[in-house]
Amino acid sequence: MNVPGKPLLGGIEAGGTKFVLVVGHSPTEIVAKHSIPTRSPATTLAQAAEWLAQHGAIAALGIASFGPVELDPRAPRWGYITNTPKPGWADCDIAGYFARRLAVPVGFDTDVNGAALAEYAYGAGLGAGSLAYVTVGTGIGGGLVIDGKAVHGAAHPEVGHFYPRRLSVDAEFHGICPHHGDCLEGLASGPAIHARWGASLSDLPADHAAHGIIAGYLAQLCHSLFAMLAVEKVVLGGGVMNTPGLLEKVQFATLALDAGYLPGADKHLLSRPGLGDRSGAVGALLLARSALD
Ligand code: ZN
Repeated sequence: MNVPGKPLLGGIEAGGTKFVLVVGHSPTEIVAKHSIPTRSPATTLAQAAEWLAQHGAIAALGIASFGPVELDPRAPRWGYITNTPKPGWADCDIAGYFARRLAVPVGFDTDVNGAALAEYAYGAGLGAGSLAYVTVGTGIGGGLVIDGKAVHGAAHPEVGHFYPRRLSVDAEFHGICPHHGDCLEGLASGPAIHARWGASLSDLPADHAAHGIIAGYLAQLCHSLFAMLAVEKVVLGGGVMNTPGLLEKVQFATLALDAGYLPGADKHLLSRPGLGDRSGAVGALLLARSALD
């Protein structure tokens, strides 16, 4: 499978419910893809390493992981999943495991930063200088790329955990985030929608009030991203965003929140991922390539 002169790259999109594994000669030349359910770290990491080893020697591995994770390369626990509530996964040295087992350089970032890098390079962000990628599903997370670089700071962005202004028509609901109650994830993630209305957004009638409420909260995030960071594009992925008409409702509500104020608001663009559900896997291969460089 190895092509002379073109090293094979490995990628892992490590999610809380599944691991997507890929090998490719470049981020967009994927030659094999596989997914496995996320079980205990011992089982899951071993299965992933075995699958990757079946495709010949890879030159580098990229991991785009659920978190929280340690991204500071000077920290002793760089490459760890840190204090996740997911049973068994706290303090998991995920990057170190593969570096030792496969003896290759490892690139490591959050799942959403990986997806943001992929959308920036090959997807909805083509031509933009900055982009935020937000996933709205079991949780709400976001990654940020400015001038080609994923943003890290004291940690990594956690845009799902900001507190939106509560909508009066939704004042009764307390929110379900175990840390914050009514942060954005506590109000607008898939489980928060289920907790209020007993169904997913796409299963509720098109005229149900839930659509406007969820769009209203997500618009507060989009407006804040434009206002605070001046990103050119916000890419909205994740299962909840598959609801027909939701993207348009969020776009409309975001413009309404801006109220004609922000300079360049006519350039503010929301879109679905250009790479569909491949953003994370392509992002993992981009991280592999940067580890190789
Ligand atoms: Zn929260």
